[in-house]
Amino acid sequence: MTLSKSLEGQTALVTGASRGIGKAIAISLANEGAEVIINYSSSLENANKVVSEINSMGGKAYPLQADISNENSVNELIKTILNKNNKIDVLVNNAGITKDGLLMRMKTDDWQKVLDLNLSGVFYCTRAVSRQMLKQKKGRIINITSVVGLMGNAGQANYAAAKAGVVGLTQSSAKEFASRGITVNAVAPGFISTDMTKDLNSEGILSAIPLGRFGEPEDVAGAVRFLAADKCAAYITGQTIQVDGGMVMS
Ligand code: NAP
Repeated sequence: MTLSKSLEGQTALVTGASRGIGKAIAISLANEGAEVIINYSSSLENANKVVSEINSMGGKAYPLQADISNENSVNELIKTILNKNNKIDVLVNNAGITKDGLLMRMKTDDWQKVLDLNLSGVFYCTRAVSRQMLKQKKGRIINITSVVGLMGNAGQANYAAAKAGVVGLTQSSAKEFASRGITVNAVAPGFISTDMTKDLNSEGILSAIPLGRFGEPEDVAGAVRFLAADKCAAYITGQTIQVDGGMVMS
């Protein structure tokens, strides 16, 4: 018997893969044999670094710029991938931003920008790949939400609303696509050490994490890899897996 990689020959798109959690997910999927498209919005240099890292371990990847909050940009992105690869097996909706502030003083622009990327972006990407995945009768869609979307957070009304929306979108698309062999699941990280959290006051947060440490991007990537693999997660859809060191238990 030969050992096979779980995503050999597959094409995977990871949005916002130039750093942080997206980067770890991209490396992890490439490690399982997928050719990974490294989407980024502003830093080609960072995206190229991820591609080089994947190439140096013998994997396949290439960078593609697109602003995921922009419908036309997303449609172009998917068209370019389909022209090159003829298929998309795995979509990981990871790109996200924060624009925190108390609700009473929150600028409409800060509300809108977070909703545009963190929620509408997931919709644009899912819609754009859905025709191809329905044709293939096969696909894995994994949405990165947040525990904040499950419990709310003072100062993050925009972010929490978008991430809660992602959970509903995950469940609805899971129901729409299930009969065609496409699964849609979400992963909800807790506090993960990335650029997004580096300026946050983490005092007090650690004591609320039973496992006693902040998460690493690779912790999230492990859950995504599991959900992407045909052999592991074929019978799981519409679910949200929390990767939060036990911070939120219901
Ligand atoms: P990060 O380190 O700030 O990285 C964000 C990524 O998103 C970058 O690759 C960035 O690319 C990309 N991006 C930003 N705007 C974009 C746009 N308009 N179009 C396409 N890509 C865009 O964030 P992270 O911590 O890894 O977070 C990744 C995901 O996990 C997000 O959805 C976040 O909400 C979620 N999450 C994070 C945590 C946490 O504790 N870190 C917890 C729960 C959930 P460029 O640099 O090229 O712009």
